Amino acid sequence: MGKDTGFLEYCRKDPGYRPKEERLKDFKAVDLVANEEDIYEQAARCMDCGIPFCHAYGCPVANIIPEFNDLVYRGQWQEALDILCSTNNFPEFTGRLCPASCEAACVAGINTEPVTIRQIELAVIEKGFEKGLIRPNPPADYFDESIAVIGSGPAGLAAADTLNKSGYHVTVYDDALHPGGILRYGIPDFKLEKKVLKRRINLMKDEGIVFETDVRVGTDVSFKYLKKHFDAVCLACGSRQPRDLPIPGRDLSGIVFAMDYLIQQNKKVSNESGKQAPLITASGKTVVVIGGGDTGSDCLGTALRQGAKNVFQLEILPRPPLERPDSTPWPKWPMTLRESHAHKEGGQRKWAVTTKAFMGEKGAVKKLLCAEIAWITGTDHVMRPEEKPGTEFQIEADLVILAMGFVGPGNSTLIDNFQLTPDKRGHIKAGRNMMTNMDGIFVAGDMTNGQSLIVHAIASGRKAAQSIIAYLQEKH
Ligand SMILES: Cc1cc2nc3c(=O)[nH]c(=O)nc-3n(C[C@H](O)[C@H](O)[C@H](O)COP(=O)(O)OP(=O)(O)OC[C@H]3O[C@@H](n4cnc5c(N)ncnc54)[C@H](O)[C@@H]3O)c2cc1C
Ligand code: SF4
Repeated sequence: MGKDTGFLEYCRKDPGYRPKEERLKDFKAVDLVANEEDIYEQAARCMDCGIPFCHAYGCPVANIIPEFNDLVYRGQWQEALDILCSTNNFPEFTGRLCPASCEAACVAGINTEPVTIRQIELAVIEKGFEKGLIRPNPPADYFDESIAVIGSGPAGLAAADTLNKSGYHVTVYDDALHPGGILRYGIPDFKLEKKVLKRRINLMKDEGIVFETDVRVGTDVSFKYLKKHFDAVCLACGSRQPRDLPIPGRDLSGIVFAMDYLIQQNKKVSNESGKQAPLITASGKTVVVIGGGDTGSDCLGTALRQGAKNVFQLEILPRPPLERPDSTPWPKWPMTLRESHAHKEGGQRKWAVTTKAFMGEKGAVKKLLCAEIAWITGTDHVMRPEEKPGTEFQIEADLVILAMGFVGPGNSTLIDNFQLTPDKRGHIKAGRNMMTNMDGIFVAGDMTNGQSLIVHAIASGRKAAQSIIAYLQEKH
């Protein structure tokens, strides 16, 4: 609970970002790190609130927040670390990337600013690495059974880590050259430097997990092979089939999907593509990003760092309010306007806009034909977009990036090979124990939930691992 009167004595203090002029020149992390004094003070703000909504309602992995806040306030870092790691396999990812629904549910946030829970979480795990408290800790003994985890994004990694720590042999397969999924290839280094990911992967390898990369399951490795060599399989292949915009002019060159754009730049920063310049670059171009979410914001930050002349980000939804609306009261996640560091760096956001056509010259995109949208609520209480008459306008563009979300996992070869039952959108159906329609084949993360958040992927990977353990123990 921190200090009795901490919430009355101290204000919320966020460490903020590196100066804009400096951070735009590189791809290094934009976040500044809170100093130790500030972390003690922020932990001291945690109240003895009775029901910790942050833990019980806000945090998808149910981090035991009041307890680690209290231990941090008292300088008991090892104990705080033990409590944090008992619910979250990778606090160094969530501590940097989680939108922190815990803070939206913090009791202090009802009439003042919430505790900086995410920063405290990050401080605890980083202190653990810094002080050498986190060392390879493989299980003393292993059961005979072995498990294959397919996909090394946060869901697959969380499942693998939980299973290995429980004494099961784990092999993780991934079709990419390096593990990490979207952590490695989607999220730019300015949000998550890849050395943070590599540190964790190395630790997992030292603890006994085997990684088989550059292997596509369903194609290079069959269902039959996995069934023969493993006692259970956890599928965690993500949901990366991008939503397209099939309007006139879509076949022009210069219109790309967000992930294709981000993957190239991430590979370049990690020197995975050697000295080769990215094929898709925003350098010197007017860029239009279609889609106002996190992926769009990552494309905006990347385009600005590549030296784009101008960047527009278009969103079909109306601009959200600045204050928490009545529709999402505390402790719910508030539907308010969010500004990422990238939005503070440059570019122009346009709300309630639809794109009607792409127009080009010599086969390359040059303009977008757009119109303003009104959101009308029907008698069925469902809001639908309607074009406002007479509001058509054009935007110049040399590069258009489609960042309109993801429609499903794709992966049809694997799904056919495993004879899995997908839902209407192609996500893999699972029972309450996360087993698919096939005996011994479990599923976790975006592949079953749809594109979501890292913290949900971790929660899902942990749950699948627990179900696999129960399944294997039942067979004994
Ligand atoms: C650009 C972008 C930015 C994001 N930013 C944030 C953020 O800041 N905060 C946040 O909380 N969330 C963010 N998200 C969402 C978050 O990254 C995802 O919800 C999360 O990564 C899902 O984890 P996953 O393990 O289910 O899948 P993924 O991370 O997609 O990993 C799936 C893995 O499976 C592999 N794979 C697929 N098919 C096969 C196959 N047949 N054989 C072998 N391997 C296969 C893939 O190569 C991949 O490595 C972002 C998403 C995107 C796209
Ligand atoms: S994982 Fe996310 S929601 Fe949970 S405590 Fe950390 S920042 Fe908050």
